[in-house]
Amino acid sequence: MSFFKASSLVRSFEESQTLLLSARAKKLAAEGRSIINFGGGELDFNTPSEIIDRAYEAAKKGQTKYTAVSGLPSLRKAIARRISEDYGVGAHEEEILASCGGKQAIYHFLQAVVEPGDEVIILAPYWVSFPEMVKMVGGKPIIVRAKGERITPEEVAAVVSDRTKVLILNSPSNPSGTVLTEDEIKGFMESIASKAAWILSDDTYYRLVYAPARFISPLQIDSDWRKRVCVIGSSSKSYAMTGWRLGWAFGPKELILAMTKLQSQVTSSPASPSQAAAEAALLEFDGVAEDFRTRLIKRRDLMVKALKDIPKVSYLKPDGAFYVFANISGHFAGGSAGPSVTSFCSQLLEEHGVCVIPGVAFGDERFIRLSYSLSEEHISEGIRRIRHALLPK
Ligand code: PLP
Repeated sequence: MSFFKASSLVRSFEESQTLLLSARAKKLAAEGRSIINFGGGELDFNTPSEIIDRAYEAAKKGQTKYTAVSGLPSLRKAIARRISEDYGVGAHEEEILASCGGKQAIYHFLQAVVEPGDEVIILAPYWVSFPEMVKMVGGKPIIVRAKGERITPEEVAAVVSDRTKVLILNSPSNPSGTVLTEDEIKGFMESIASKAAWILSDDTYYRLVYAPARFISPLQIDSDWRKRVCVIGSSSKSYAMTGWRLGWAFGPKELILAMTKLQSQVTSSPASPSQAAAEAALLEFDGVAEDFRTRLIKRRDLMVKALKDIPKVSYLKPDGAFYVFANISGHFAGGSAGPSVTSFCSQLLEEHGVCVIPGVAFGDERFIRLSYSLSEEHISEGIRRIRHALLPK
């Protein structure tokens, strides 16, 4: 018998399903199977070589040591500049924390503001880590589900209570690609306005928005909310830099100091060569984000068109990020659509070599999430295999 016994903390939350299935898909591919992986949470493009060169040059010059916990001043200035330009709000270095990915910044934010029993409102479908991170800090995830196609401010207002501490917004959304409209955000802000509650605005995908949709931040709607909004950003998705682990938080100085204090005891600074890479991306090679965005539109259109041809599959056309969240429950009889869709995903991978993520990981078991950050050939072949698995001749 193992000496190890998992702590109550470890037992209190779930492992990331998206990472688990993607790992299985990678293992099968390494064994020589032909795998189409729609499961990934990252761009298939490599980090542009100019950005890699900057990190290499910086490391050669000695940027290989710990830096200030919150990141080098030059990086924080670069992040502040990008936020000032893109959001139209004057951001300052001391309002920025650079972290090992946006993920770490989100966790430190929750640690910094949530007391045990506090409620955190999360809109479904949601990014897998939101509810689990809330549980890890002793908070209570309050999930809001849309009765219609999209969640309304009234549906959010209905769950607001005196224990509401945070409302998490994620636009564009992982997993649905939904971009929140100005009216929706205004309505959500009004629903918590009378409470001492924060907005965590996870803007990880804000550079990947497809016209006519337009990214809008709560900060652009009402600058008075600066005192109660924490923005999360990342180099991961905009510049194809997931492995460099460099993200950030932008918020009031006091909040950033608290998050820095937490980070100082957990990881210290993010990796210093990664800081050089992110700084170069933000200041010198920002055009790559636009280039990726343009290339992704084509793939989105291909994916959506191919899915449309499969009977009993429905989805909302994504306006951002690089995922389609598709309802396939019509293919599974009776009331047990949940387990069927979920077990279908395992069968799809093992028997047809296609990895998709079951929607249960994102709070809706009728759906699957497909990433379209794949070559056009792979998108077409993968959808052909899914169609075949759903509608065997
Ligand atoms: N937020 C969302 C919605 C995400 O999808 C991800 C990554 O998949 C993150 C945050 C964290 O990204 P990173 O830690 O790579 O910056």
